[in-house]
Formats: sequence, structure tokens, C-alpha cells
Amino acid sequence: MDTMTSLSYLISAICFIMALRGLSSPESARNGVLFGMFGMALAIVTTLFHDTVEGWILPLFGIALGGSIGAVIAKKIDMRDLPQLMAGFHSLVGLAAVFVALSAYFNPVAYGIGTVGDIKLNSLIEMALGAAIGAVTFTGSIIAFGKLQGLISGKPVQFFGQHKLNAALGIAMIVFIMIFCGTQDMFTLMLIVGIALALGILLIIPIGGADMPVIVSMLNSYSGWAAAGIGFTLENTLLIITGALVGASGAILSYIMCKGMNRSFLNVILGGFGGDDDANSITAAAGDRPVKIGSAEDAGFIMQNASSVVIVPGYGMAVAQAQHAVREMADILKAEGVKVRYAIHPVAGRMPGHMNVLLAEANVPYDEVLELEDINRDFSQTDVAFVIGANDITNPAAKTDPASPIYGMPVLDVEKAKTVLFVKRSLGTGYAGVDNPLFFNENTMMLLGDAKTMSENIIKAME
Ligand code: NDP
Repeated sequence: MDTMTSLSYLISAICFIMALRGLSSPESARNGVLFGMFGMALAIVTTLFHDTVEGWILPLFGIALGGSIGAVIAKKIDMRDLPQLMAGFHSLVGLAAVFVALSAYFNPVAYGIGTVGDIKLNSLIEMALGAAIGAVTFTGSIIAFGKLQGLISGKPVQFFGQHKLNAALGIAMIVFIMIFCGTQDMFTLMLIVGIALALGILLIIPIGGADMPVIVSMLNSYSGWAAAGIGFTLENTLLIITGALVGASGAILSYIMCKGMNRSFLNVILGGFGGDDDANSITAAAGDRPVKIGSAEDAGFIMQNASSVVIVPGYGMAVAQAQHAVREMADILKAEGVKVRYAIHPVAGRMPGHMNVLLAEANVPYDEVLELEDINRDFSQTDVAFVIGANDITNPAAKTDPASPIYGMPVLDVEKAKTVLFVKRSLGTGYAGVDNPLFFNENTMMLLGDAKTMSENIIKAME
């Protein structure tokens, strides 16, 4: 590789690192995206000028076609559909890895890795691993897409001996990779791809719909490693670096999500936790316990007479797309001298940063948005905790009940506020399927209804 190409690739790689760094905070996210765009543009131009590229028509046609499809999808996509969009895109990366491996196998001379039947050993290993990881990513991402899009049931699909079957297929795949590296046999390579395709499906079907964000992040990581595999086959250092960055960041993201939920990664992978949202499982939890149910007018009155309000958004706010109405409500309160802040739990919603993205979209000032560790101590001096579409992230069972599946997860101490207002449609549970005792507290008032409609009604009442 000549010096100019190496230098350009180095600058692109630095831009990608800056992009990841920028994306770690809503304030720097836009700059992060700009770094990523510049890095990618530079990488494409550098590659097009590389002497191994023969003719520009086909690559430019591919870029124009892919770029147009990407631009249309990005314009149209609803924020709530981002996880399935990611899953869809990962499936394409996986498929690309399989095709690159196959084309290198059938035309090794073009890749400078030997001749048919006499391919270098390290290239055979890269090829087999790239094809296997790519195929797992391809079918796994398609299943994840189907579950998230509601095309197939989000419920975990489990059967007797499932984990043993997966383990047997995994071992068989490793054995066939070893055989392939020794024989270079085409049928063995096809067998590896076939097993990997089946494994992708089998690994993802037992995962509950609500665990899908962790799995999408894990598939993101796989797609990165698959891309790095392609990079080795194509002897392209930038692709290796970029693939490794995606692979590592996806793995770290999955780890952060699991840590925030206080669950092990293995526990998520083995599946079965959290199926379809049990939206209206209503009052079974209540039994004979009294519940205070209030109206939008009550909520408006209480908040207008408060001196401080902390808004705690959760998954239900995202589903209802209530962020704009919530910000409007906060603006009215602020205009009346009420101190308003937002408390963000690390796993509120269904993906890391979910609430930050929604609040940024509604133009909520960043300095009003506080993370759990920065706000938790303040609840005891807060007049109103306004919990909107959130449940698990406030559940004190995480602190007090060792038998609870969320035991050990850090939670927002909303119950310490003078009054807690809960906006949700029922007394039903959230993602973890655990009853929330706060609904029955003396200082709690339930505001039953859709998050957006309720916020709009509160605005009307306050005006
Ligand atoms: P929860 O799932 O605990 O609760 C959300 C609540 O929103 C539900 O109880 C539901 O109650 C209510 N809701 C749903 N739709 C509406 C609506 N239209 N209007 C009003 N309310 C609505 O969400 P949290 O954000 O509190 O907690 C996140 C959970 O997701 C945690 O358990 C976390 O571990 C998990 N998770 C998070 C990930 C992440 O990275 N952020 C990844 C994977 C899982 P009702 O049906 O009564 O309306």
C-alpha cells in the first residue's frame, strides 16, 4: 500500500474514533456524526483511487444505489424503529462478508492469496471465519428484525435440548473449519455457511422481544468482526480497523446494557426473559390495596403549586412519542417559576441513550437532563416526581427484594419526593414483569392514560 493511501486510511481511522467519542454524549453527537461522514467519504475516495480498483463505473453505481436507499430510509425512519433498522443493516454486513469470502475462494488470484486449490492457510482461516460469522450475523439479524418489526412473534421460542443443539452445531462448525483449512473443499465451505445460517436463527429465536436491543447490539458487534474478517481477505487495513472498532464498541455497549439491568450476558443469550409487552395486565397487581387515581387537572394543580419537579421518562414516553408534549408542559412550569429537571436512568427505554435522544429531539436543554447518580440524592428535596411511562427503573424491589429479577439494579429513588405522579395506562408491570409497590404508596397518585394524551391534557388544565 502506498504512503498516500496509508496516510488517508490513518486519517479516516482517527475520524471514526472521534465519531465514536462524539457519540458518547448528546452535546457532541452532531460533531461525532460529522467526523464519521468525513472519515467515510475520505475512505471511499482513497479506495476508488487505489491501483487495484479497475474501473469506477461499478463502484460508483453501487455507492449511488446504496447511498440513495440509505438516504430515503434515514429520512423516513421513525425514531422508535431504529433498533430494527440497525438489525436490517447488520444483516447486509453479514451477507457481504459471506459473499466476499466466497468470491475470494472461487477467484483467489484476484485477491492475491494463491490459486484455486492452493490458497494460503491464513487466508483460508480468515475466509472460513468471515463466512461463518457473516452467516450467523445475517440470519440472526433477520430474525431480530422480524421480532422487532412485529413480523414474527416477539415471544421466546424454546424447545427441549435447544442449548445442547446449539453447542453441537457450534462444535461441528469449528471441526468443519479445521477440515476446510486442510482440504480447501468447496462442499465443506458450503456446509460451514449452512450451519452458520441455521445457528443464527437458533441463537436468536429463544430471546424475548424485550431483550432484543441487547441482541441487536451484540449482532452489531458480530457484524464488525465479520467486516474485519473481510478486511483481512481484501488486505485492507482500514476495513480491519473499522471492523474492530464496530466489533469492540458493540461488545462494550452490550456489556453496559447488561450491567445497567444487573443481568449477565449469558443470561440474556440463553434467553427466555421478557416476551411481548404485557401492556394491559391491569389491576391483578392491585388486589384489595387502595390506589389513588388522579386526573390531568389534579396533576396540573399539584405541579403548578410545587417549587421543584423532576420528570422521569421511560419506555412508555417513547412508545407514546410524548416527549414534545412533556417539554411543552415543562416550559409552562418553568415560566411560572417551578424548577424543572429530568432524571435519566441508564437503561430507561429500550436502548442506551434512548431517553437522551428523545429529549434532545424535543429540544430539552442538556443542562436540565441529569443522570441517575447526579439526581438521586435530590429526590428527598423535590416536591413532585413526574414519572411518565417508566416503571422498572423506579421499582424499589430492586433495593429490597433479593428474590426479585431486578434485585441489584440501581433505581431512581422517586418515592422520596413529596408527591409521585405516575403516568401509565394501567397498574400493569413493565419489561421485567415485576409489580411496582410504589403505585400503592400514600404519596403516589396514578394518572392512568396514554402518556401523550395525559401530558396534553395536563397542559390544557394548566393553561
Ligand atoms: P418499563 O418497561 O419498566 O415500563 C414502561 C411502562 O410504560 C410500562 O409499565 C407501561 O405500563 C408504560 N407504557 C407503555 N406504553 C405506554 C403509553 N402509551 N403511555 C403511557 N405509558 C405506557 O420501562 P422503563 O423505561 O421504566 O425501564 C426499562 C426496562 O427495559 C428495564 O427493565 C430495562 O432493564 C429494560 N431494558 C432496557 C434496555 C436499554 O438499553 N435501555 C435494553 C433492554 C431492556 P402500562 O402498560 O400500564 O401503560
